[in-house]
Amino acid sequence: MYTFPHKNILDADQFTQEDINYIIEKTNQMRILEKQGRAFGLLRGKILASLFFEASTRTRLSFESAMERLAGRVISTVGFQFSSISKGETLFDTMKMVEAYSDIAVIRHPIEGSSRIAGAAVKIPVINAGDGAGQHPTQALLDMYTIISEKKEIDGLTIGFIGDLKYGRTIHSLIKLLRYYKVHLHLISPKELYLIDSYKKDLEKYPITYEETGDIKAMWECDVIYVTRIQEERFPDYKEYEKLKETYKVNKEMILASKKDTTVLHPLPRVNELSTDVDDLPNAAYFRQAKYGVFVRMTLLCLCLGVEIPKAE
Ligand code: ASP
Repeated sequence: MYTFPHKNILDADQFTQEDINYIIEKTNQMRILEKQGRAFGLLRGKILASLFFEASTRTRLSFESAMERLAGRVISTVGFQFSSISKGETLFDTMKMVEAYSDIAVIRHPIEGSSRIAGAAVKIPVINAGDGAGQHPTQALLDMYTIISEKKEIDGLTIGFIGDLKYGRTIHSLIKLLRYYKVHLHLISPKELYLIDSYKKDLEKYPITYEETGDIKAMWECDVIYVTRIQEERFPDYKEYEKLKETYKVNKEMILASKKDTTVLHPLPRVNELSTDVDDLPNAAYFRQAKYGVFVRMTLLCLCLGVEIPKAE
């Protein structure tokens, strides 16, 4: 019998294919329970600490919504400015306080590896909601869930990642989940923003295959197109960002020239890399993707807290 083995969710690398399948199956259950009004109550009496030290709309609100939909409560701190970290407190000490006040914590932080420090400091479960240019594992799980919901099967898909593959943490995490499947990736980015070598090297051990290109036309062969924002806030040299920020702009015409049923994903927010004229096409799945995030996060909160998700009839 399979038991979910993770207390913390820190890096997509921690998941086996069995874990991924289990999370997808439980999310399907959760989605039905939520619709039937049976999810409310699963986390009654539990408190989530929502610690967002970097900008966020979807991730923070979807975690908080997830907790509320399970009848749990949320306490939060947003930005360094209003937390004692601005007075010089260490993340370790902050986490010790969080542990005293809550049952589970979700943390977003600009420094890569910070969620690991947070997780090591406390006994309560800690979920990484994005650490610098590092990882964003819950986004990757909702991306997987969306791809399965839209396409049914992962094996056999050609997936195009477009944009900032160097600093884009959602891609860093999603690639770690996709590596178990027979998918072919088109890594489409300017040379300066190619995927980091360590991620590419890791893929060599798995069934996944990939090719790199700067040519946007590679998207025409893809079943799924995953567009990303150039990560302005991560560039050490702003001039470099200015040079690259307009590299790609995916628009309606380009989607119509692609495979007819290609699915367009974006972790959002978008700036100008994905035109709003795509929104009305049936291919545009990014708003559904954001919505699925709530079900995935409801599921993960329960799993990390060891709370059983009842079977949905
Ligand atoms: N919302 C995603 C993240 O936090 C994508 C982005 O910011 O571009 O990584």
